[in-house]
Amino acid sequence: MLLKNPALLRSHAYLNGAWVAAEDGSTLTVTNPATGAIIATVPRCSAVQTRAAIDGAVLAQRAWRKRTAAERSKILQVWYQLMLDNQEDLAQLMTAEQGKPLAEARGEIAYAAAFIQWFAEEGKRTYGDVIPSPFPNSRIVVIKEPVGVCAAITPWNFPAAMITRKAAPALAAGCAMVVKPAEQTPLSALALAVLAEQAGIPAGIFSVITGEPQVIGGELTASDKVRKLSFTGSTAVGRLLMQQCAPTLKKLSLELGGNAPFIVFDDADLDAAVAGAVASKYRNAGQTCVCTNRFLVQASVYDAFAEKLAQAVAKLKVGHGTETDVTQGPLIDEAALCKVEALVADAVQCGAKIVGGGRRHELGGTFYTPTVLTNVLPSMRVAKEEIFGPVAPLFKFETEEEAIQMANDTEYGLAAYLYSRDIGRVWRVSEALEYGMVGINSGAISTEVAPFGGQKSSGLGREGSKYGIEEYLEVKYLHMGL
Ligand code: ADP
Repeated sequence: MLLKNPALLRSHAYLNGAWVAAEDGSTLTVTNPATGAIIATVPRCSAVQTRAAIDGAVLAQRAWRKRTAAERSKILQVWYQLMLDNQEDLAQLMTAEQGKPLAEARGEIAYAAAFIQWFAEEGKRTYGDVIPSPFPNSRIVVIKEPVGVCAAITPWNFPAAMITRKAAPALAAGCAMVVKPAEQTPLSALALAVLAEQAGIPAGIFSVITGEPQVIGGELTASDKVRKLSFTGSTAVGRLLMQQCAPTLKKLSLELGGNAPFIVFDDADLDAAVAGAVASKYRNAGQTCVCTNRFLVQASVYDAFAEKLAQAVAKLKVGHGTETDVTQGPLIDEAALCKVEALVADAVQCGAKIVGGGRRHELGGTFYTPTVLTNVLPSMRVAKEEIFGPVAPLFKFETEEEAIQMANDTEYGLAAYLYSRDIGRVWRVSEALEYGMVGINSGAISTEVAPFGGQKSSGLGREGSKYGIEEYLEVKYLHMGL
């Protein structure tokens, strides 16, 4: 990996404005999932170092909150610009540690940077209220204040965007943030810290601490100085962290797992539905929480949709993310590959039919062939578990009611998709879906201007949009006697 700006590749953590090794010198290894090659090591920071990062954030935040929103905005705008200026290097780093195709990595850097620009603006608009008082001798005023020191624990599937989506609103609102990135992808996080430092974000306002999840997570959740935790990851870990945050009653944003349905009605434009299906299923090799998990297809168009989808999927190119034209990289690790294999084996054993892929890719490693399965039933594991891989299971339904019932028959409620040209049906089904986000005749829904988040076991809170900054603000009511 050749970077134009080699300073972006760091093997130290960034705590309170200093680049540090672990207290005992120990490290974690970062590998390239496409080749297995070791890229770098990062510090295995201790609990004591985590506490020091929190203490530094407390001090720094006292000054940061006093700055005007316009001052904070200016600094964030510089950070945004630096990300764009370094887009190619940041993308190279991301593909090296995460595996996604370079085109997707470049797209993620632009998307990640967009959150910083958006919240640099929104930070200037954290308006309060004046409420007509029911008493003649008093006035009622509502102001918004930063929550304080926040912690973020982020996943490996979007190594940059899941950080800026949390840090940008936090910093814009006047909070400080300590980030623990996923152990698979700390290099993108550290590169963001390099640029944050260069942008002039004060020491302690944005720290990146690497190491064992339980050690660092334990400190971040137990500390009464951390007033909020924002987590993106699995529902199981989200539940655990929520419990760990209970004694200190932290505010929580939890963006957890999904089991997205993608409903194709018989009046849909099938070609558009296939294009949306490919976009929503195979991006990042199926490793996103809004990737379609279940295709629900109306019986009369089932065979036609299956055939068109299989044809489109056969054109996807699997390979190393750095190669041109590659549309699908490797899975993140062996465990992910084994899970996908087990889910496909279970489906086939119970009667599903493979109409494309269905096996490891000849490149070896953790590469898996994009797969389409037909004759899939709700009793199979693929219907209930998050696949997080490039496998599209096709379920059949007869009526609109049945589609809604099947779509909602899950503990999750993050993203859902539906394809139909009947405006009445679009409204009925959109309102009946128990999901935080609905893609209508669209397979790509993520943007910094819209509220991203889920219902049910998919989590709490929203990220992005005007709603995203509220998660980092406290409401304070002033009752003023005259
Ligand atoms: P995934 O299955 O996508 O890796 P996880 O929920 O395991 O999802 O991981 C998401 C993030 O949560 C990562 O940064 C990981 O290090 C962190 N994490 C996992 N387990 C814990 C834990 N017990 N305490 C704190 N953080 C954790």
